[in-house]
Amino acid sequence: MNTIYLVVPCFNEEAVLPETAKRLHKKMKQLQKADIISDESRIIFVDDGSKDRTWKIIEKLHEKLPLMFDGIKLSRNEGHQNALFAGLMQAKGLCDAAISLDADLQDDIEAIDEMLAKFDEGNDIVYGVRSQRSTDTFFKRTTARGFYKIMKHMGVEMVEDHADFRLMSRRALEGLSEFKEVNLFLRGMVPMIGYRSAQVFYERGERFAGESKYPLRKMLAFAAQGITSLSVRPIRLITSLGIGIFLASFFILIYSLIRHLTGHTVAGWTSTVFSIWAIGGLQLLAIGVIGEYIGKIYLETKARPKYLIEEWLHGAPEAGDAPAKSDTD
Ligand code: UDP
Ligand code: MG
Repeated sequence: MNTIYLVVPCFNEEAVLPETAKRLHKKMKQLQKADIISDESRIIFVDDGSKDRTWKIIEKLHEKLPLMFDGIKLSRNEGHQNALFAGLMQAKGLCDAAISLDADLQDDIEAIDEMLAKFDEGNDIVYGVRSQRSTDTFFKRTTARGFYKIMKHMGVEMVEDHADFRLMSRRALEGLSEFKEVNLFLRGMVPMIGYRSAQVFYERGERFAGESKYPLRKMLAFAAQGITSLSVRPIRLITSLGIGIFLASFFILIYSLIRHLTGHTVAGWTSTVFSIWAIGGLQLLAIGVIGEYIGKIYLETKARPKYLIEEWLHGAPEAGDAPAKSDTD
């Protein structure tokens, strides 16, 4: 039977935590009773430097049910992605699979059953995907669509309408731990792990208490983080722009020569206009080329794993079938 850990990052969540703990506990008990998950399964709450009573509540929960509730307290507020990563890394060696979800239970915990079923079928990663976005505001819906489009153009592989509600097997977690980067954008990194994956569809509810910890400002920063930490294509755009403008400068040259020869210009105009375009283009091109090298350095410093092995077919000697002793010893 599989040991499953639920990983829940919490930042100032005193309003929802008692109820969330109750619901998750009930879910875990139900899964344990049905012999779907083992009795060693746990719920980990990661306190991301909360200023309210969040950690107090977690301590209480652990005190009351030490075999159900675990707590991790980060030294300061590190942000959702880092808190989640911390929880997943703590769970890594202890479980067969970890499921991450938000503390406000906007992610439907009834989808967990299906995630576990897909895990049993041999999937290492199961993505929770929103079946619709009707509960979102028009603004959120259109910006999200735009964001996925941009990410695709930037060459980043992402599962659309999936946030951080997902199941990851032990080896997928081990794979994730090989990613040494500091700027985390998990929903872009997890697909890079590979292995067999599946999707489970669910309807995302409203936050039942407290308010969002992701105001617009944080959301925009998060989107920018996603692009710049996964793609160096913006740098390439500068290069292309530089090439384009430099080429355009030749047309400008021809145009201004014609103007010059037909006597439509004042002295000095032709050479000035051409120079502006030619030099501007060359400068952008040069910045792009330098950027290309910086981009390479950037990706190198992330020290991502070059590969993860999915299977290894290896003939091990049978027990008692010791390797032959060599003549030299
Ligand atoms: N969160 C966190 N650290 C932060 C901000 C948010 O751990 O700095 C957690 C938060 O407690 C919640 C999850 O990230 O469990 C998602 O946040 P929220 O529900 O406020 O975002 P929204 O659903 O509004 O996008
Ligand atoms: Mg939420």
